[in-house]
Amino acid sequence: MAQHEVNYASTGGLPVALTTVDKLLNWGRANSLWPMTYGLACCAIEMMATGASRFDFDRMGVIFRASPRQSDVLILAGTLSKKHAEFARRLYDQMPDPKWVISMGSCANTGGMFNTYATVQGVDRIVPVDIYLPGCAPRPETLQYAVMMLQKKINRQSGNMNKNTKQRFV
Ligand code: SF4
Repeated sequence: MAQHEVNYASTGGLPVALTTVDKLLNWGRANSLWPMTYGLACCAIEMMATGASRFDFDRMGVIFRASPRQSDVLILAGTLSKKHAEFARRLYDQMPDPKWVISMGSCANTGGMFNTYATVQGVDRIVPVDIYLPGCAPRPETLQYAVMMLQKKINRQSGNMNKNTKQRFV
């Protein structure tokens, strides 16, 4: 049987990890992003595929939740109609701080091909957006990349940030 003997005196002492509270908080937040299960149109199919076994969002700590109260990421995937905008905003407000928003697809970013009276011409008119993901529809890999960009953004933020200080549009 193998003998494992650790002699800290000979290796220069106990291993010590130095960090700041900011970094520790951000590390935890960035690696446990829980998006709300909320799809608006065809882009939502790609979002669902990202969570399924082939792409496996779980390995990145991304686990979809069925309630805004348990979520810290809102992925607005698809076409947002003006009739529905009020509810999207209400769900965003019900999420606890700190929270982040990914705008997924051309329709969410700019209204896409639906330049009509009934479509919100960009979800950033309703909620503050952190990451814009282009495409019609963006593939699951690109949504994973958007989450990785969001993780980088979170790691650069102050640990005690208050998202209420973000500009609101309504
Ligand atoms: S961007 Fe394309 S795929 Fe996504 S909701 Fe709009 S029309 Fe559908």
